[in-house]
Amino acid sequence: MERVAFGLGSNLGDRARFLRDGVAGLSGVLEDIAVSGFWDTAPIGPPQPRYLNAAVTGRTELEPEELLAIAQKIEQRARRVRTQRWGPRTLDVDLLLVGDRTIATPALTVPHPRLAERAFVLRPLAEVAGDWVVPGAGVPDVTVEELLARLPLGC
Ligand code: ATP
Ligand code: CA
Ligand code: CA
Repeated sequence: MERVAFGLGSNLGDRARFLRDGVAGLSGVLEDIAVSGFWDTAPIGPPQPRYLNAAVTGRTELEPEELLAIAQKIEQRARRVRTQRWGPRTLDVDLLLVGDRTIATPALTVPHPRLAERAFVLRPLAEVAGDWVVPGAGVPDVTVEELLARLPLGC
């Protein structure tokens, strides 16, 4: 069993409901699930409403590619429509971490490539996975909590 982490975000409609639906979808495929609080955060990218963000961890035998497909299915159930890059969305589900693995294929990069620079991802993640060593983040080992502490203030 591999420990995995997901990041969820919503900034359209009933944000908390979309996050709860996302958590429910993930709870169907993960064991020992842990869910962070829901954090209200400032958007990046084009001007758009504020986000609600959360993180989920759990354990699974599923392969990373299967986890990405599940994340995308959960987004589609929330009727996510893609218009512009980093634009508003009912629900975004990113695969953040898969144990200590690093993956780089055209469709999937793990750890999530922008994890280390995003407080809106790291803050919820630190609630459920603060001690998780992020592969590739530095030598000596760097945890989620340390990545969060390294971010500039106001980030
Ligand atoms: P960002 O990746 O900066 O958070 P985004 O979540 O808005 O932006 P999307 O439009 O949701 O980006 O996803 C674009 C593509 O990213 C997806 O089609 C997927 O193949 C790819 N991708 C690569 N690595 C990951 C990952 N770890 N989790 C989710 N999607 C990923
Ligand atoms: Ca994202
Ligand atoms: Ca995404």
